[in-house]
Amino acid sequence: MMFATVLKPLAPIRARGAALAAGLFCAILASAPVAALAQGKSQDIRFFRIGTGSISGVYFPVGSTLASAISSPPGARACEAGGSCGVPGLIAVTQATLGSVANVRAIASGGLESALAQADVAYAAHAGTGEFAGANRIEGLRAIANLYPEALHIVVRRESPIHSVRDLPGRRVSLDLAGSGTRSVAQAVLAGYGIDVKQIKQVNSQVGPAADRIRLRNIDAFFFVGGYPFEALDRLARNTRIRLIPVTGAEADSIRGKDRFLSAATIPAGVYRGVDATATIAVGALWVVSDKVSADTVYGITRALWHPSTRRLLDAGVAAARQIRPEKALDGLALPLHPGAERYYREKGMLKTGR
Ligand code: GLU
Repeated sequence: MMFATVLKPLAPIRARGAALAAGLFCAILASAPVAALAQGKSQDIRFFRIGTGSISGVYFPVGSTLASAISSPPGARACEAGGSCGVPGLIAVTQATLGSVANVRAIASGGLESALAQADVAYAAHAGTGEFAGANRIEGLRAIANLYPEALHIVVRRESPIHSVRDLPGRRVSLDLAGSGTRSVAQAVLAGYGIDVKQIKQVNSQVGPAADRIRLRNIDAFFFVGGYPFEALDRLARNTRIRLIPVTGAEADSIRGKDRFLSAATIPAGVYRGVDATATIAVGALWVVSDKVSADTVYGITRALWHPSTRRLLDAGVAAARQIRPEKALDGLALPLHPGAERYYREKGMLKTGR
C-alpha cells in the first residue's frame, strides 16, 4: 500500500475487541496520506489510542470528543483557519474497553497509549496496592489531567423493596464486569456495609445491558460509576420508574475513610426523570497516559486539550464533557504528571515551582 511508507504508528493498531472511532479513522486512512503526498509533505502520522469503557457509558463519548480535539491529520485545515487545533500528524482513536482496571492494565502491556480511569484505580495501580500489588504494579502510569467527577449510581425500579445497600443480599445485582472501575467501587461499598459479594446473586453486565435488564425485570439492581446524567440511564428513567439507592451515614464515612480518592456527592433531584436527590460517593475521572509516550507528544496533547477551540467541542458533548475545565485539571490527580503535561502547566503558571 502506498501509504505504508508514510504511516508510522506510535504503536501498532490492533482492533482486537475494540471499537475504533471508525468514521474518523477510516476517513483518514483513506484520504490523509494521499493528501499529504499530493501536497509534497512527508509529515509522519502517529496513532494515539484512548481506552474508554462500555459504549453505553460516559468514557466512550468523552473519549471520542477528546480524540477529535487532539487529532490533526495531515491535510487538515489550519487551526487559525478554523480547522483542527490538535497535534500535527496525530490521529487519536477511541477504543471501547471494560473500564478503568482493564485500561490501566492495557497501558502497562502496551495495548493502549492512554485511557480514562478512575482516580482510585489509577492510584492503586501506580502505588501497587490491592489487586495491583507486587508484580501487578503499574509504575509507568502518568496523568494528563483530572477531567470530571463520576458518581456511584445504584439503580433499582421505583417499586423495588430495596431501599438500602443493606437490602441487596439475596438479590440479582450487576456489579459490572471484571476490568471495570465500577466493580471495584461496588466491592468497596458492599464491604463497607459488611456484605460479602457471595451474599448477592451476581448477574453482571456492562451499563447498557444492565439498564435493559432492569426494564425487563431480569435483575433487581445495578451499580455504575460515571458522570451524570448519562444517556443509558436517562433513557431508562423515561420509560421505567426508577430510584437510586443512597450511600450515606457511618458506612459511607468508613468507605471514604479507606480510600482518599472517594468523596461525598449528591446526584440532584430531577437529573433523571422522577428521581429524588440521592447522596452517594464520587471519584474523579482522570486522563492517564503511559510514561513511554514522548514529552513532546504529551505536551502537544495537553495544549490541544486546553486550547480555546476545544471548549466548543466539549460543550457540544455529553454532560460530563461540559464539566471538563482547566481550573480542575490538577485536582486529585493520584499520579505524577507526565513530563509533557507538566511542562504545559508550568508554562501556563498553573503549577507552583517545586511541585
Ligand atoms: N468509571 C467506570 C469504570 O471505570 C466507567 C465509566 C464510563 O464508562 O463512563 O468502569
